[in-house]
Amino acid sequence: MGEMSSLRVIAKVSGGTGSWSGADAYQRRTGQRIEALFTDVLMEDQDAYRFLIAGVATLHGVTLPKGALPEIADFPAWEDRGAYKAFVLDLADRTRRVLPGLHWISDGRDPWDVFEAERFLGNSSADPCSKILKRHLSDRWLKQHCDPADTLVVVGIDHEEIERFEGAPARGTKPATKGLRRRMAEAGWTFVAPLCEPPYSSWLGRRNRIFMAGLWLPRLNALGFSHNNCGGACCKAGQGMWKLMLQVFPERYAYAEQREAKIRSVLGDVSMLTDRRGGGKKPLTLETLRTRDLTRAEASEMGGCGCFFGDAA
Ligand code: SF4
Repeated sequence: MGEMSSLRVIAKVSGGTGSWSGADAYQRRTGQRIEALFTDVLMEDQDAYRFLIAGVATLHGVTLPKGALPEIADFPAWEDRGAYKAFVLDLADRTRRVLPGLHWISDGRDPWDVFEAERFLGNSSADPCSKILKRHLSDRWLKQHCDPADTLVVVGIDHEEIERFEGAPARGTKPATKGLRRRMAEAGWTFVAPLCEPPYSSWLGRRNRIFMAGLWLPRLNALGFSHNNCGGACCKAGQGMWKLMLQVFPERYAYAEQREAKIRSVLGDVSMLTDRRGGGKKPLTLETLRTRDLTRAEASEMGGCGCFFGDAA
C-alpha cells in the first residue's frame, strides 16, 4: 500500500473498533488525511456514538468543544424509538459543525422499520437492514459525492476475515465468493483493507493502539459483545449473544421480542434465530429463547456481523 496523495480517501466507519483501526492504520502508513463515512441505522448503542465522534476527532487531530461527546444518560430510552432517532439525528447535525470530515448519513429508518417495510425479518443468512440502510446508502453516497477515478475507499476488515475482502474458493456445497475488493472493482471503485496487509496486528495490538490514541473501548466490547453494531440487537446474532443481551440490556431484549412478535403476527412463523435441536432447522423466537437453558454449543453462538460489507458472492 503506497502513498496515493492525489486521491481522496474515504474510510467507512461504523462506530466500532475495526473500522477505526483500519482508518488509523491507513492514515499512519501513508500520512494521508482520511474523510470518514458513517451510515447510521439510528439504533447504535449510545456509547458507539461516543466512540464514533471521539475516534474521528482523534484521526483528524480535532479537539472537540465541551459537550460534543454524548453521555449515555443524555439519550432517550432505547425503546422510545422515535425520541431516540430524533436525538441521534440532532447529534449528527451538531457533530457535522465541529467535524466536517465526518459524513454522517442515514435514511431515517432503523432495522425494524426496514423489516416491516420489506415484509421480511432479517436473520443470520439475510439482512435487508444492512443492505438497505448501510450498503446501498453508502454506495449511493459514493456515487453522488466521489469520482471512482480519484477516490480510494478504506475498510476495516482484518486479516482474520480476509476472505470477505479477497474472496474464497468453493468449499463443499458452498460456492466461491468474489470478495468485496473484486465486487467493488467491477463497479470501478478501489477498496483497500489496511488490516489485511502487513505489518499485521493482533486484536490486542489494535486495542492497545486505541488506548494509546487516547480513546477507550466502546462499552459493548467491554461487556462481551462480539461487535458494536445496532446496540448488539442484531438479526444475525446467535443465541449466546441474545442471552447476553437479556442479561445486560433486558429492556432491549424485551423491545426486540415485542417487535419480532408483531412481525410474526403479520408474516407467520418467522424468527431471527434458528432452532437446531433434534436435527433440522425451525424458527426459534426470542420469546422461546428467553426461558430456555442453552446447550454449550448454543451458548457459544455469538454470530458475526460484517454488515457494512456483506458476504454476497
Ligand atoms: S448490525 Fe445486524 S441488525 Fe444491524 S444493520 Fe447490521 S445486520 Fe442489520
